[in-house]
Amino acid sequence: MYRLSTSGPVVIGQGTVESFGMRLRIYLYAVDGLLIDTGPRTLGQHLPGFLDRLPPLDRVVLTHLHEDHSGMAAFVAWRHRVPVYCLDTTGIAAGERVRLPLYRHVFWGTPEPFVAKPLGDAVETERYSFHVIPTPGHATDHVALYEPNQGWLFSGDLYLGPRVGPVMRQESLPALMDSLRRVLELPFDTVFCSHAGPVAEGRAALERKLQMLADIQGQVRELAARGWSMRQVTRHLFPREPLITWLSMGEWSMRHVVRSFWPRG
Ligand SMILES: [Zn+2]
Repeated sequence: MYRLSTSGPVVIGQGTVESFGMRLRIYLYAVDGLLIDTGPRTLGQHLPGFLDRLPPLDRVVLTHLHEDHSGMAAFVAWRHRVPVYCLDTTGIAAGERVRLPLYRHVFWGTPEPFVAKPLGDAVETERYSFHVIPTPGHATDHVALYEPNQGWLFSGDLYLGPRVGPVMRQESLPALMDSLRRVLELPFDTVFCSHAGPVAEGRAALERKLQMLADIQGQVRELAARGWSMRQVTRHLFPREPLITWLSMGEWSMRHVVRSFWPRG
């Protein structure tokens, strides 16, 4: 189920997915008729309970197309007759079926396709005006929503938590660092993260995350310059292989953290 709470006018739904001995939290946010992300299909049966406690919806914005965010977009669009907006309106957001690796299908479920509208520079609701901030890194189509008057940053998967964990093969951590720098230029204080929830002192948390990434980048570059191999650097900096690396057959790995920072040329 989704546990309901509020932060000012923002309604928060917190769900938990458990599979393969792992637990992952999901946070959905709704404010002034806007729903930010829709959660995975594996929590789909609980979504109506959350939606029915919200004031009427006008639109859905997806921070990116990963299945734990877009999983129920088709359902919400159909049930509430509302448009779905996202940056990348191809693939699943253009009505095409996707095929996920089995572990992702089991954990999050495979989203139903939907037809999205392209996200512009801003999302205007009755009371608020959200700036759309492209924040690639975790995914190329990732955006954050920033409300300057309220100091809110809906950060999708930009932050994720205080530690640097395994990342997916396609992620670019240098791009993620640029995205963190871009949002840190904005005056915000409340960060609404899709997996860590509302982050107290969000600015300081994002600054710490950026610093942590910069430290890892520095270590990777230094060891690479000494002639270490990517494998040696990974073993040295991250001696323990997380469970997800085995489950995902390497799609999620600390190795990709090192590879992402590996000096080129
Ligand atoms: Zn994601």
